[in-house]
Amino acid sequence: MHGKIMNASFDALVIGGGIAGGEAALNLANNGFKVLIVEKDLSIGGKMILLSKVFPTLDCSACITTPKVSEISRHPGITIFTGSEVKSISRKSETSFEAVVIKTPRYVIGEDCTGCQLCEQACPVLVHDQFQYNLVGRKAAYIPFSIASPRVAAIDIENCTLCGACEKVCPTKCIDFTQEEEEYCIDVKTVIIATGFNLFDPLKIPRYGYGTYKNIITSMQMERQLAPTRPFNTILRPGDGKVPDRIAYVLCTGSRDMTVGNPICSQICCMYSIKQAQLLMGALPMADVTIYYINIRSFGKGFEEFYDQAKGMGVNFVKGKIGKITENENGNLNLRYEDINENVVRESEHDLVVLSVGVLPNTDSKALFHDGDLKLDPFSFVDQADPLASPSKTSIDGVFVAGTATGPMDIPDSILSAGASSAEAISYLNRRL
Ligand SMILES: Cc1cc2nc3c(=O)[nH]c(=O)nc-3n(C[C@H](O)[C@H](O)[C@H](O)COP(=O)(O)OP(=O)(O)OC[C@H]3O[C@@H](n4cnc5c(N)ncnc54)[C@H](O)[C@@H]3O)c2cc1C
Ligand code: SF4
Ligand code: SF4
Repeated sequence: MHGKIMNASFDALVIGGGIAGGEAALNLANNGFKVLIVEKDLSIGGKMILLSKVFPTLDCSACITTPKVSEISRHPGITIFTGSEVKSISRKSETSFEAVVIKTPRYVIGEDCTGCQLCEQACPVLVHDQFQYNLVGRKAAYIPFSIASPRVAAIDIENCTLCGACEKVCPTKCIDFTQEEEEYCIDVKTVIIATGFNLFDPLKIPRYGYGTYKNIITSMQMERQLAPTRPFNTILRPGDGKVPDRIAYVLCTGSRDMTVGNPICSQICCMYSIKQAQLLMGALPMADVTIYYINIRSFGKGFEEFYDQAKGMGVNFVKGKIGKITENENGNLNLRYEDINENVVRESEHDLVVLSVGVLPNTDSKALFHDGDLKLDPFSFVDQADPLASPSKTSIDGVFVAGTATGPMDIPDSILSAGASSAEAISYLNRRL
């Protein structure tokens, strides 16, 4: 059910408010253009805002993201719709597009919410917290996470029992269950696709036991445990809350693997696993950390040195392909693997296993262009029409792509790509003004 349909116009529409979309929007706005960011989550910042530290410098990810996110949200030239999605984009004229955007209700009047969290404390409903990758619970009335932007509560209406406890305690009376979905018809001159990437779902490899054995987690779940906005004050294995002391990483989970339909290298998993191993050595000095790998791809500036640093700190590197993971009675895990150097099959026991999950395409943007003329590449990422001369151009004139929407890449490359994309968009706009 829609509330009113509203019209608006902007110079540029940026789809996705991760680091790439945010950076592209800032560049456009700093050059005097009016920008709309449409973000489907309740906060901008994408995956970067949820990370611990970044390779290879070990700078704090949240400390880099939060000032950037705050600059984006305060910029007078940028409007942000969170909890929103683009339904369709069609060409209106040679120089403009019409985008239909759906803003889902938050059931909280954003301008009046102080972020006091009283609603959260009063709400009796507990569900999995998607921003902590299901490691802990959250309430049906909740602030997404402490450094969310905007730091405004939302009501998860699917799980809400409408008991009214949150309304009663809210000091500013900003909870509003009458809010309805809003539809906007937006006129834009250019579009930047910055919808990012999806993470590989390890349930697709049943022999690894993810989802069956509780002490197997994904790298994003470990990232959350190491982040400043972490769910616990230390590292815990989910099965019994024990602090682990023999941790294993399984690289290339869902990457370079035709059996799951993904032949490509995810480019970031080797390095983020080496980063996490170093952070774990700091957090749990007595723990053994072993990384099982097929090849270590430390291809970037400072990456090989970062790999050497991990070896120097005592991280074990085993060239081994994992065949199967099984669970012992005490919740520990047996890894059966092919020792590639020795050409023998071995077994080893660990008390926590981290699956270094790969980068998959987010194909959302394909369906937005009703004429069907947005091309994807053979791996289903947004196709770069001219990858060598103009890497941010897509198959549609006036539509550009930024960051991991074009393929796996790390944060510096996503920011570079956003720079290129916004520069192309600015030059496109200037040619048509
Ligand atoms: C475990 C892990 C650790 C990592 N560690 C590091 C590190 O240490 N250093 C490093 O350089 N990189 C690291 N990375 C990589 C880093 O996360 C990415 O390079 C970066 O997040 C890419 O930014 P992006 O904006 O392209 O995509 P994303 O971060 O995926 O952002 C995309 C945004 O678009 C939104 N969106 C998606 N679809 C739609 C839609 N249809 N409509 C509206 N909005 C939409 C999403 O909600 C999201 O906010 C790590 C990644 C993982 C998984
Ligand atoms: S009305 Fe819904 S969100 Fe509010 S306290 Fe009750 S269950 Fe929680
Ligand atoms: S909705 Fe009300 S109670 Fe909840 S955080 Fe906002 S101001 Fe506080």
